[in-house]
Amino acid sequence: MFQKTLICIGNGYITSFWHSCWKEERSLKELFPLTFSSSKLKNASVASMGGWRDDVWEWGDLGIPFSMETEAAETDRQQLCFKLGSVCLRPEARDRVRWLAEPDDRLPTRDLLLARGIISPSFDSCCLCGLKRESMNHLLFKCTVSSVIWNKIASWIGLVDYKFKDIGNCFLVWHNFCKKQKVRAGTEGSLWLSVCWSIWKLRNEIILRNDGWSVSDIVWSVKELWWRWSFIGKITRTNYNFFEFTNDPFLYYS
Ligand SMILES: [Zn+2]
Repeated sequence: MFQKTLICIGNGYITSFWHSCWKEERSLKELFPLTFSSSKLKNASVASMGGWRDDVWEWGDLGIPFSMETEAAETDRQQLCFKLGSVCLRPEARDRVRWLAEPDDRLPTRDLLLARGIISPSFDSCCLCGLKRESMNHLLFKCTVSSVIWNKIASWIGLVDYKFKDIGNCFLVWHNFCKKQKVRAGTEGSLWLSVCWSIWKLRNEIILRNDGWSVSDIVWSVKELWWRWSFIGKITRTNYNFFEFTNDPFLYYS
């Protein structure tokens, strides 16, 4: 599900040309490593890699020397140029996070790993509560720990009487609530996604590092993540105050 999150490019002002996933589900530095290593503009935004001429977007030299050192590097560069040929920036639109939910259960939760014979049945329980078998549905939504996180975030934003029914309904309830708060177009599902993402990240950290954690840490990390996402799509960088954000998050998404 989360691999499907990418930046939908608008004017390209705030998206990193090499490091963000905006053209594909992988960054250009991963797709074209030889060209990336030759580029002198490793931290440039998409917008600064080209310019408008007579209302037509033209890419510049991407900070790459005129001729590449090896044939493989030259092929890599040509393939990148070919890929960029189909891209046109939209000066009137801001860059925004785009995500595509998948209807099926594709997160490598323990129930799937068990079904594939990767783990044994004694290791299939949920990392958060330790009581039920870990599935995506359980881990992200139904687990007693996740439920507390969702409820705390719901009460933070003033979403009353939130109750989980199923993923589709849950997404719609949160999406529509944010829409009613008049968040800017394209960001309606971002809070829902940041809660899912934070719970999934917590789960992985518990497995990989066996770190100590608390529900309040996770609630804080949801807010912090959603606060950072609020910068995306904003051209001017003013008023980025986390504590002000926690008092009135929708102001940052207006
Ligand atoms: Zn659980």
